[in-house]
Amino acid sequence: MAQFCYECFKKTFDIDEPEEKYVISKTLYLCEGCGKLKKVVISERLFYNSLLYHFLVFSFRLIYKIFRIILKIVLLPYNIYRKIILKK
Ligand SMILES: [Zn+2]
Repeated sequence: MAQFCYECFKKTFDIDEPEEKYVISKTLYLCEGCGKLKKVVISERLFYNSLLYHFLVFSFRLIYKIFRIILKIVLLPYNIYRKIILKK
């Protein structure tokens, strides 16, 4: 894999993703894009998008579902009361 700094990497591959998605080197390397010594992109973080993202979405959905169930339980006496009132 050719070595590019993050800025050149973005331009070369035309991506618009956060720097956190990539593993950036700790030491300086010669960037093949701008020819300067910079921290280069080593690889893509494997689980950045898939695992963490899906885990977060899943947990938020779970919290939302649990919240709705709790809300229904809390509102149940009121709903029963309202139905009784409306039938009269
Ligand atoms: Zn560069």
